[in-house]
Amino acid sequence: MSEQSVLSPPTGAASPPTQLMLIGGNWVEAADGEWREITSPGHRGHLLARVPRGNATDVDRAVIAAREAFPAWRDQHFKERQRVLLRIADALEGRAEELARVTAADTGNALRTQARPEAALLVDLFRYFGGVAGEVKGTTLPAGATQLQYTRQEPLGVVGAILPWNSPLMIAGFKVPAALAAGNTIVLKAAEDAPLSILLMAEICEEFLPPGVLNVVTGTGRAAGNALVEHPGVDKISFTGSTEVGRGIASKAGERLAHLSLELGGKNPSIVFPGAVTDELIEGLVLSSRISRQGQSCTAGSRLYLHRDVHDEVLARLAERLGAMKVGDPLDESSDIGSVINETQFDSITEYLQDGLANPALHVEVGGLPPTSGPLAEGFFHVPTLFSGGDNSFRLAREEIFGPVVVAIAWEDVDDVVRMANDTAYGLGAYVWSSDINLAITTAHRLEAGWVQVNQGGGQVVGQSYGGYKQSGIGREVSLEGMIAGFTQTKQINVRLGHGATPAPRTGP
Ligand code: NAD
Repeated sequence: MSEQSVLSPPTGAASPPTQLMLIGGNWVEAADGEWREITSPGHRGHLLARVPRGNATDVDRAVIAAREAFPAWRDQHFKERQRVLLRIADALEGRAEELARVTAADTGNALRTQARPEAALLVDLFRYFGGVAGEVKGTTLPAGATQLQYTRQEPLGVVGAILPWNSPLMIAGFKVPAALAAGNTIVLKAAEDAPLSILLMAEICEEFLPPGVLNVVTGTGRAAGNALVEHPGVDKISFTGSTEVGRGIASKAGERLAHLSLELGGKNPSIVFPGAVTDELIEGLVLSSRISRQGQSCTAGSRLYLHRDVHDEVLARLAERLGAMKVGDPLDESSDIGSVINETQFDSITEYLQDGLANPALHVEVGGLPPTSGPLAEGFFHVPTLFSGGDNSFRLAREEIFGPVVVAIAWEDVDDVVRMANDTAYGLGAYVWSSDINLAITTAHRLEAGWVQVNQGGGQVVGQSYGGYKQSGIGREVSLEGMIAGFTQTKQINVRLGHGATPAPRTGP
C-alpha cells in the first residue's frame, strides 16, 4: 500500500514511494524500521519503491495474526470462502492492467508477452479455486448399520508461502487461493527483488478478507524467509525457488516435522522428432524455451534435442525467429522480451555465455554476449542465444541458466534421446514434438518429468496438475487434487451407532 504509485514517473532517487507490509489487517513498517530499496531491472538504478526489510519479529507478528484468524476462517461453510475468493477474482480482474504494469516494472517481464498473461492467470486461479472450494470432501466407508466411518479433509493451519521473483503473481496464484479455499490462513514472503505486485495483490485481497487471513512480509530470504521456515506456528511451508535453497528449507522444515512442498528448478528437455518443420513448430519452440520470459522460467525448454533429419532446418528457422524478437523496455508494448531481474543474474548468464563461447564444440546460431552500448546497456538486458553442437555433458546442458539461452543437441535414436533427456537431476517439465502421436505419447510416458507437453509449449493452465520429479520438487498444490493433497490433512472419524450395538474391535496400534 503506498501513497504514490510505483509507476509514477521517477521523482528523484531520494524519495521513492514507500510500500508497507500487511500484517493482521494493518499496513506496517518493519518492527526495527529497516527498509529495502526496490529498483527497476529495465533501468539500472531507478528506484521504484522502498519496502520494509521484515525480519523474525515481523514474521512472528504475522504468524500470530494468521493463527488468530485461522479458526474462524476454517469453520465457515465453504460457500463463504468461495464467495470471498470469487469477489477477489473480480476485483483482481478490474485491476489486472495495474497488476501487469507493476509486474513489468519490478520483475522486468515484458508487459505484452508476460506480465499481462501472468495477471490474467492470477485472476483465473482465484476463480478456479473459489469454484472448487466445495470439493474439499471426505469419504464414507460402507461399514455396516452400526458404524459411521467417514473422513474430513481439514486445513493444515497456517501456511508459510515463499515466492521467487520470476513470476510472482502466477506463483502466488498457485498457492494463495488454493490454501485459502481449503480453509488455511497464510503468511506470504515475497521475493526480495520483486515484492511490489504481491503487495498490490494483497491490497486488493485485503478488502474482502478478514484481518490476518492473508499476511504479506517483505524482506530477505536469510532473515524473513528463514524465520518463517523455522517458526513453530507455521504448519506448512510452501516454497517455490531454487533447488539449492529448497534443499536447505526441506532440512529445516523436516527438523520440526512441518508439512512441506517444494517447486524447484528445472533443466527441461524439448525433443523434436523428424517431420515437417512448420511455423507452428517453430512458434512452439519459441514459447517452450520461455525466451520471452528471458528464460527465467523453471519450465524453460532449454535443452533442445533435434533429430538429425530436421536439425539444420529447425536451427536455421529458430535462429531467424529468435533474432527477430525485440528486446527492450518491459513496459513498452512493442517489446517481446524484457530484462533479467538483477545484476547478479545478469552476470551469471553472461558467465554461462562466456563458457559456451569458449567451448570449441559449440556454435552460436544467434545471440551471444549482451550489448555494451545503446539503450539495452541501460538495463539488465540479454539477447536470445541459441547454441548448436551441444552435448549432454556440457555445463550449459546440465545447469539451470535461468537466462534466454538454449543449447541444441543432435540425436538419431529414440532410446538414446530419452536417455539423454532423463540424464539430469531435475525433472520438472519436458516437451515432445512429433506428428506421430503414438510415438509422441509413448515418449512422453518415458520421460522423468512432472509435466510433459506434446506439440505445444505454453504455460500452466488453470486446473492442471503441476510439480516436479526428482530434484525439481516434492508435492502438488495447483489442481483441485493438488489443493487437497497440499493444503489439507485427512481426519478419520469412526462412530458407533445404535443401542446395544457390538463395539468396534479393539485392535490396531
Ligand atoms: P531463491 O531460491 O533464491 O529464492 C526464492 C525465495 O526463497 C525468495 O523469496 C527468497 O527470499 C527465499 N529464500 C532464500 N533463502 C532462503 C532461506 N534460507 N530460507 C527461507 N527462504 C529463503 O530463488 P529465486 O532466485 O528467487 O528464483 C529462481 C529459482 O526458482 C530458479 O531455480 C527457478 O527454477 C525456481 N522456480 C521454480 C518454479 C517451480 O514452479 N518449480 C517456479 C519459479 C521459479
